[in-house]
Order: sequence, then structure tokens, then C-alpha cells
Amino acid sequence: MGIRILVARFGALCCALGRRKPVGFVGLWAGLVVSLAIAYSPAQAAGLPLVISATVADLRRFTKAARAAGKRIGLVPTMGALHRGHLSLIERARAECDAVVVSIYVNPLQFGPQEDYRAYPRDRKRDEELLRAARADVLFVPGDEEIHRPGHRTRVEVERMQDVLCGRSRPGHFRGVTTVVMKLLAIVGPDVAFFGEKDAQQLRIVRRMALDLHLEARIVSCPTVREEDGLALSSRNAYLGPEERRAAPVLYRALRSAAAAFCAGESGAGRLVDVARGAIAAEPLARLDYIEAVDGETLEPVTVARAGTLIAAAAWFGRARLIDNVTLSMDV
Ligand code: AMP
Repeated sequence: MGIRILVARFGALCCALGRRKPVGFVGLWAGLVVSLAIAYSPAQAAGLPLVISATVADLRRFTKAARAAGKRIGLVPTMGALHRGHLSLIERARAECDAVVVSIYVNPLQFGPQEDYRAYPRDRKRDEELLRAARADVLFVPGDEEIHRPGHRTRVEVERMQDVLCGRSRPGHFRGVTTVVMKLLAIVGPDVAFFGEKDAQQLRIVRRMALDLHLEARIVSCPTVREEDGLALSSRNAYLGPEERRAAPVLYRALRSAAAAFCAGESGAGRLVDVARGAIAAEPLARLDYIEAVDGETLEPVTVARAGTLIAAAAWFGRARLIDNVTLSMDV
């Protein structure tokens, strides 16, 4: 942005000088050459510099200017340790918005006391490189004290939806997610916020929250990015040992076998779940946490599966708790 404005100003100055021959004539050509050199420099081709912002005030200076310039702002909230799944969200944001804000905040509120908050993978330097390559505009990296003001008392809850599926094994998890996602939406004020289908329950809960609280941000879902063998990309895949990594694709294979049974005419939700459960049970390194068929919007349990029904599962492979899901459709 800055460079483009500079180039435009330099060009205008040279044009003005160009009217005063002969000095101006030389200046005009020199200006054009320099402007083109800057406009097509490697730095420009690689995208504009990534603005890194650690405070709400700083971030808002950027969003205020972007809004004043008529730009559509996209937000991609993450916990860092970026992979191709995150990058697909950023790519989508780039395609739909003029300014892309990516947040990295490992949110302590969404981790239980026995969970992996401390061990959660963090690699700021690599994340920054990936964000530059992905042409994100701003990296927002708030500290805890920036997200939660002194004396804070507010929590956001989406009743019922937060207590099923992962919410059953991770009490308080979604309350932590919605509280912080709500704060990020309030801080950034995006036109669009992007979330992955991989975290199907989170996506539905955030959608419900945005609807219930009359938020203006549109919530966009992006398909799950997978390894070649079907394993959904996740920052927690880093915890897998070689044998566990070999075993982990069983989760998606099992979900796919349930989806295939649905396509073949089985509509009993319990029977579909049993198909997937059987496949996971056959893998000795997998320890199933849950598998359930639920309504694709409300997350209420269903007994009869139909197109749009969500089958979601979580399983442990060593110390990695992995989640995955499929949405049933007749053409899987
Ligand atoms: P996380 O950093 O795990 O909190 O994820 C940040 C965002 O990236 C969430 O909206 C996730 O659903 C999304 N995400 C994570 N993994 C994937 C994936 N494999 N494919 C697509 N989106 C993903």
C-alpha cells in the first residue's frame, strides 16, 4: 500500500516537473523508470510487508484506515503452528476480502487443567514466514492481558451446543472458544471471518453466536485440508509418533465408511455410527473418545440420518487427541 502511494506521488511529481523543459523532461523519464523498477521489484512481487500488531489500539489503527479506504476486512483466527489447513483459510480470505487479518492466540481459556496448553506447538518465526508468503496483511498477536482487561468478568456461552460432542469430554472448552472469538470479532470488526470445517462443532457454535448476537461479520466455512492418506491436517499431528501417524488415518476412513453406508441406503444413525466404530476398534493404536450422528446445524442427536447430518468423532492416538467429521450427502 505504502509503496504504491509513494510510486504514485513520485510519478505525479515527475509529471509536474516534466512540464518545465528541459530539466523536467529528463525528470519525467527518470521518474517513470524508477517507478516501474519499484512497482516490479521482488519485494513488491512478494507482497507488502506483514504488519505485526500486539495491541488492540495498534490493530484498530490498521482496521480504521482500511475501512476508511473502503476495504473489506477478513479475519482468520488461529492458534498458530500454521499448516496448509490454516493457509487455505487465508487464501479464501485473500480471494474474498481486501485486507486480511490473521490472529495467533493460544487461548488458555479453551484448555482444561490437564490439557496441552503448555505443550501446544508454537513457532512464531515460521508462522510469520508463512503469512508473508500467503500475503496476509496483518498478524495480530495479542498477549493474555491485551485480550482480557484487568478485572474482566464477561464470558460468552452458546447453550446446549457447547455441551455435546467435544464439549462432553472437554468441559468449558467451547465457553473459552466463544469468549475469545467474540473478543477477536469485537476487536477486529471484520466483514467476514473464516473457520475450518475440520472443527465442525466450533464452526456451528460460532455461527449460532454470530446469529444470536446480531454480529455483522459473515461466518464462512472452509473445507478440511487433508494429507494424501486422508488424515486431517492439525497442529496436534506433531504429537504423533511414527506408528501413531500410520494409524491415525483410520479416523477419517471410519467416517468415510459410515458415509458410504449412508449412500448405499442405510439411514439408521445408530447403525452408521456402528460401522465407523467397528473400523476404529480394529486399529489397536486408536482409543475412541466419541462418535455421534447429529443434526448438521443444531448438533442435536438424530436417530434417522439424512443429507446434511454430521457424523463427528474424536480419538486418541498416543497423546494426540484428534477430531474429524463428515457431513452426509448422497454423492459421497
Ligand atoms: P486452530 O489453529 O487449530 O485453532 O485452527 C484455526 C482455524 O483453522 C480453525 O477455523 C480451524 O477449523 C481451521 N483449520 C484447522 N485445521 C484445518 C484443516 N486441516 N483444514 C481446514 N481448516 C483447518
